[in-house]
Amino acid sequence: MALRMMKSQSAKSPERLSFSRAAAVSAASMLVTWVMTALSFLVTPYDAEVFRHVIGPTVVIATVVPVSVSFPVALILQRGRLKLERALKELEEVHAELRTRSRVDALTGLLNREAFLCAVETSRSDAPDGAMLMLDVDHFKSINDTFGHQCGDEALKLIAQALSDTVGQKGHVGRLGGEEFGIYLTSSDEATVFRAAEDVRLAISRIRFHPREDLQRRITASIGIALDEDGRSLSDLMRGADTNLYQAKQAGRDKVILRRAA
Ligand code: GH3
Ligand code: MG
Ligand code: MG
Repeated sequence: MALRMMKSQSAKSPERLSFSRAAAVSAASMLVTWVMTALSFLVTPYDAEVFRHVIGPTVVIATVVPVSVSFPVALILQRGRLKLERALKELEEVHAELRTRSRVDALTGLLNREAFLCAVETSRSDAPDGAMLMLDVDHFKSINDTFGHQCGDEALKLIAQALSDTVGQKGHVGRLGGEEFGIYLTSSDEATVFRAAEDVRLAISRIRFHPREDLQRRITASIGIALDEDGRSLSDLMRGADTNLYQAKQAGRDKVILRRAA
């Protein structure tokens, strides 16, 4: 029963709730005024005739005055509190939205560089095993030059989607900048990591990118891998992946290179 009453109380609209609270405050103030008035009658004994004359107006005054003053004041305060609560909620929502936007790359919806590196650091502190993959789209400039920047943007979105779909729960994906992406896998087993990187490379080469209705253009990417082992620093890991990415480009692109530093 008590639970049902509490539920119906919480189900009230905020406006009705503030009205009820203001009514409760004015009822309480009326009660206090009555008690004070009764006490004043007790300590100041009137004769019966005088008492009969004053009791009526006194009861009216002890009711009307507190109610007419406390109810509007309490209602104004309650409505003010309500406005403040709503403003605070809106502010929290805007704050959460800004926090999300500051972490996400607007074009692709992937983590931006800072958020990606932050996720990598967190992952590394939770479990030391991992691998950094640095991926750069091959000859991307020619897509822009041939079909326009907007078409290039569409290609980047498709690439981002392919990366997310392929990596899934196996790690983190972020856009490092331009047509360069980072993938951090939570495994440092060489064969597993290489296979995962190959899956990513193949997924990109299978993207159906139609810069024009009558035309399909193949997209490829080169990937450099650095295994996260022996307590390497994040910048050393990035450097290692970048060096292997350079090697993949040198080897003719559309390749995965995993070579340990000598
Ligand atoms: P490589 O195989 O050596 O990597 O050649 P590439 O053409 O991919 O490399 P390059 O660095 O010469 O060109 C990268 C291009 O990516 C140039 C730049 O205009 C384009 N780019 C960077 N960011 C964006 C973007 O957000 N949208 C579009 N459409 N293009 C972008
Ligand atoms: Mg590049
Ligand atoms: Mg490129």
